[in-house]
Amino acid sequence: MNGHFAAVGEGPTARHYEHGIQVIDEDKQFNSNVNAYLQETHVAEAGFNYHLISVFGSQSTGKSTLLNHLFGTEFSVMSESERRQTTKGIWMSKNKREGGDPDTKMADNILVMDVEGTDGRERGEDQDFERKSALFALATSEVLIVNIWEHQVGLYQGANMGLLKTVFEVNLQLFVKDRQSTTRSLLFFVIRDHIGTTPLSNLRNTLVQDLSRIWSSISKPPGLENSKIEDYFDFAFSALPHKILQPEKFVSEVHKLGTRFTAGHRSAVTDQEFTGGVFLPEYHRRIPADGLSVYAEGVWDQIVNNKDLDLPTQQELLAQFRCDEISREVLVGFDEVVAPLEERQAEATRTGETSVLPDLGATGAEARDKCIKAFEVQASRYHKGVYARKRTELEGKIDARLKALYQAQLTAAHKAGVAAFSDAVTNAVKAGQKSGGSYEFAEIVDKQKKKTLEIFKKEAQSLAIKDVPWSNFKGQYLLFEKELDEVSSRLRKEEMRRLATRVERWVKSRLGDAIGLEFNKLGSGRNGTGAPESGEQPPSEKDLWDRIWKVFVGIVGEAEDRFAERAKSFEASEGEVEVGLWRLRRKSWVALRERIEEEVMEGNILLKLRENFEDKFRYDEAGVPRIWRPSDDIEGIYTRARESTLTLIPLLSRFRLSETYAPPDLPGWIGVQPAGAEPEDEDDLTPIGGVDEEEGKSLEEEMTVLSEGKRQDLVVRFKKTADGVYVEAKRSAIGGITQ
Ligand code: GDP
Ligand code: MG
Repeated sequence: MNGHFAAVGEGPTARHYEHGIQVIDEDKQFNSNVNAYLQETHVAEAGFNYHLISVFGSQSTGKSTLLNHLFGTEFSVMSESERRQTTKGIWMSKNKREGGDPDTKMADNILVMDVEGTDGRERGEDQDFERKSALFALATSEVLIVNIWEHQVGLYQGANMGLLKTVFEVNLQLFVKDRQSTTRSLLFFVIRDHIGTTPLSNLRNTLVQDLSRIWSSISKPPGLENSKIEDYFDFAFSALPHKILQPEKFVSEVHKLGTRFTAGHRSAVTDQEFTGGVFLPEYHRRIPADGLSVYAEGVWDQIVNNKDLDLPTQQELLAQFRCDEISREVLVGFDEVVAPLEERQAEATRTGETSVLPDLGATGAEARDKCIKAFEVQASRYHKGVYARKRTELEGKIDARLKALYQAQLTAAHKAGVAAFSDAVTNAVKAGQKSGGSYEFAEIVDKQKKKTLEIFKKEAQSLAIKDVPWSNFKGQYLLFEKELDEVSSRLRKEEMRRLATRVERWVKSRLGDAIGLEFNKLGSGRNGTGAPESGEQPPSEKDLWDRIWKVFVGIVGEAEDRFAERAKSFEASEGEVEVGLWRLRRKSWVALRERIEEEVMEGNILLKLRENFEDKFRYDEAGVPRIWRPSDDIEGIYTRARESTLTLIPLLSRFRLSETYAPPDLPGWIGVQPAGAEPEDEDDLTPIGGVDEEEGKSLEEEMTVLSEGKRQDLVVRFKKTADGVYVEAKRSAIGGITQ
């Protein structure tokens, strides 16, 4: 069925329509240029503001003449001399008497259909066309002018009565399919060559009686048996004088008749009289003018193929066809705006750049609004259900494209925002470091986050379309915020690392001094009350490791405080701080180990041992340098001093606390790895024996400062050095005598 609704092509613009257009030709073909004609005469753009009139009556009763006088049309008229058929098929023309005096001015956009004469003589036995044209006229026209000679009135058996019978029958046929319809038609009888002896009211009465008789004689479809003629028709009557005998009166009466073709009111319709304008709203077929040709063609197609004419279905089909057409038309405008934007996004995707289109929300909303409004204006005139469905379809199409556009836009805004945020924070931190390190990381992050979020929010809000749920991008906003938080936490971690590095450096430098000091004390064997004579170490030597441990723990404790305090200032979580402290303790221990390593490096430690020994050997208990005399027990003093210093070597070999004679509780002090630590937190950590058990190195090994081999080597080397000192002392004692 739908296939008959061919797209209406534009007719040749140079076509001349002075005689109107032949809608249906003698071969019953529908003219494909009807829409072109409606467009050229500007009826197509009129919406519902147009009217359709058809004229019926026997051949050569002056129908075309009447229409030409009434509406200024130029339908062909039979010449007085030839007397043969003129009007063929169905012609249509627009009223050419528009405008004029506001009081008598005719309605806008009246279309008149001049229907081929219907007395059977014209087309031989072809009564078929009469029926078909009547059906066609009823399906489209508001007013049917029935043209009739005065002397025919009352001739019940005449050709006109046959025509009216047909009209009534096909009308009922239409209503079988369309019972809900409240559409009516006006049958406007124009009585020609009215001589005047019989008043119009009498003629009317006669006609009304005939009409009732016809009505009761026709067979009515089931369900409509009791229907009355008034259920479907209003009647109006008018008489015109003889055109040839009373030419001036004819013209003036036709002019008077013309003034009735205006909008009317139901109150003007009574049983006795129809006065005032003939165009009542309920006569209108409610086919929008821009769909009229498609509708008429569809209707004609059904009629000509002897199919049951079902007007509601025709109207739905028309609505579908037109709504689709209108949808395509309005989408062109939308496309013009949106396609370039889509292209720009696609281009950005190809080149990998981040492209946030300026004013996208406003542009998109405007294009959407324009498109839907344009659709609404035209399409809403069509079948409501179809219109609503097609509108939803159109919105779906538009929104799918806008949605893709908007989502890509927010993805771009998201990317750009994250990058901008990360850069801004990093730059602000750098600037802060340059200007002396007095910057508040948390404040920087806070400020930049607010700024970046605000930009994103603005963009997201600009994309929101009123009452369109998909255009609420709150979810994307929350996602963006979440990502900023993730970036913040990454940046904070980096900041923590920087802080950790600073604190570690501080620990190293403090350890460098403090540990150096403790080891330097070894160089003097006389401090405290140590008695070299007894061969025992002074306490300062015995508790070397206790002191180192204490100093170490003290420094690290101080560093921990600094670290924790600073980290809290930039809102690091407790877990993060814990990890940082744990790392700090580990790194500090490793630093201490390195520092000790440095102290016990061969040359260094040997020098210290020699100093220690010399102190014990060369000075007496009172700290006075000895002047060796031959009588002195040089050997005894030497042996004791040497033994005393030698005891330092095992002491130095292991990190042991004097009280427990055991290593400090390093694992306990470092503590277990905090639960929040992530793999990368351990990346740069040196394994520690006894703490990282899987490393296979024990605490004992971790606490070993000098290996067995090094120890023995050191003993040998120290002894040699001590021997040298002894020999020298011996020599000086003898030399002192000889001098
Ligand atoms: P149509 O076939 O019904 O369209 O009739 P036409 O308009 O072609 O007219 C047929 C003939 O009737 C023409 O020769 C007209 O001059 C003539 N005619 C037109 N109007 C009148 C009229 O009012 N009275 C009379 N007697 N003849 C008329
Ligand atoms: Mg004619």
